[in-house]
Amino acid sequence: MIAYCGFSCLECPAYIATRADDDKLRADCAQRWAEEFQYNLRPDQINCDGCRAEGRKFFVCKMCSVRKCAREKALDNCALCGDLDCEKLAQLMSMFPNVRKAMQALRQEAGK
Ligand code: SF4
Ligand code: SF4
Repeated sequence: MIAYCGFSCLECPAYIATRADDDKLRADCAQRWAEEFQYNLRPDQINCDGCRAEGRKFFVCKMCSVRKCAREKALDNCALCGDLDCEKLAQLMSMFPNVRKAMQALRQEAGK
């Protein structure tokens, strides 16, 4: 459940709401992301089985350029990529401190 960017989908409120199949959690997630990211989401749009899992994918993560790139390179995650100055990943890490922290840990594990 580690996304290509390093984030743990297990911590994601969309994943948690989906796994629990809980409409209240979906509504809470939609409201939280409206406040944090100015998304305009209906609760029924909150469905995701995880970045690397088969099944439903939240549309923002489905379109993520980091995800697309890592899949094209057939990498399990970006820590295994040779491009340490990647702008796509740098942009994502600057937006999401959790992603930065997770990627730093994965890179350390990978000896980078
Ligand atoms: S891929 Fe799905 S579970 Fe993972 S962070 Fe994105 S919305 Fe959450
Ligand atoms: S180029 Fe960037 S986005 Fe693509 S796999 Fe490498 S680090 Fe990830």
